[in-house]
Amino acid sequence: MAPACTGGPLGTVYVRTPNTGSHLPAYRGPVNAPDTALTIPPHLLPADGRFGSGPSKVRAEQVRALVVAGGSVLGTSHRQSPVRSLVRRAREGLTTLFDLSEGYEVALGNGGSTTFWDMATLCLVRERAQHAAFGEFGAKFATSTSRAPFLADSEVVTAEPGTVALPRFAEGVDVYAWPHNETSTGAMAPVRRVPGSREQGALTVIDATSGAGALPVDVTETDVYYFAPQKVFGSDGGLWIALLSPDAVARSEEIESSGRWVPESLSLRTALVNSRQDQTLNTPAVATLVMLVEQLEWILAQGGLPWAVGRSAASAEILYAWAEERSWATPFVTRPEERSTVVGTIDLDPTIDATQVIAALRAHGVLDVFPYRKLGRNQLRVAMFPAIDPEDVRALTRCVDHVVEQLHARG
Ligand SMILES: *Cc1c(COP(=O)(O)O)cnc(C)c1O
Repeated sequence: MAPACTGGPLGTVYVRTPNTGSHLPAYRGPVNAPDTALTIPPHLLPADGRFGSGPSKVRAEQVRALVVAGGSVLGTSHRQSPVRSLVRRAREGLTTLFDLSEGYEVALGNGGSTTFWDMATLCLVRERAQHAAFGEFGAKFATSTSRAPFLADSEVVTAEPGTVALPRFAEGVDVYAWPHNETSTGAMAPVRRVPGSREQGALTVIDATSGAGALPVDVTETDVYYFAPQKVFGSDGGLWIALLSPDAVARSEEIESSGRWVPESLSLRTALVNSRQDQTLNTPAVATLVMLVEQLEWILAQGGLPWAVGRSAASAEILYAWAEERSWATPFVTRPEERSTVVGTIDLDPTIDATQVIAALRAHGVLDVFPYRKLGRNQLRVAMFPAIDPEDVRALTRCVDHVVEQLHARG
């Protein structure tokens, strides 16, 4: 019998799934129709096969929260209290999760981290930014400030993919920017202010899109710690969220009242005015907020940031130890302390075609372990966000072993 949906007035919307009660089954991707001769026996498969680095695994409880919200908040005005209280729960939950110091504020708006790069370019860089770029995402923000006609040329400190670069003190710089976790390469960087940067009045602006909520951080070492909900928080994309220091707020005030033209949709000051009222400038994706809040409150109930950090680190331990024990697999990031505990990248020996391994995994519902497209390596990339069970990461490694054995047997 197929699930039956009965529409009705608000508050009486039912979704009935026969025999499963209120329990929604965990996601299970396609489990048959492999057009490859490579097979993986069911007992090796992870309970949940989603290992994508964003969008990432959405837990069944998040979807259940959506079903519940379907009877109340979905389809209602974002200016009224039900949606505003969701925004409030998101802001309060983040304040608790990151143990925000007095004066730090949570702002949010539409457009994701990519939009936040443009917003930061317009509203936070006074004259010159310095970026550390060691992968696609760090480089993209550098491109955004470099192209701005009203700014001096950006300084960009680069490093080879798979390593980490950090900014260094330079006269005339008023924003230092780098990613906490470079999702395209699987390298993570420390988050500490550049010595002397405070004294020169410069802001520290950290792209924490894939790290926030699962990497340790002292937010007082930053002025802006920004991210989006489709990575650690397992929600959908489309929003940006920023933790702002008083200095960051003052900078946007200063720049936006200085005469620089800032489009309203890219105004950090305007976003903050709305956020303070638990609103967004324009209509947000309410379902994304519902799933974000569910995940936030779940992480807090489990033990907050230390718990999330530990769970991702446990997965990372399993993945990297496995790779190091295989002659045909190598962690792409050489220095162990730079190996990301949220997004792991494993190079395969050239005799093993990673695209074949990835296709065989996909045919069995083990998904999205392809490397970042522009990196172009013979590699597996595995998200290890807190929603992902470390035992599923272990199961993934066993699946890869099994596929590689078959490839070797073929010669
Ligand atoms: C995913 C990602 C982005 C882009 O986020 P969008 O919300 O899609 O714009 C930026 N930076 C990092 C580090 C990311 O992982």
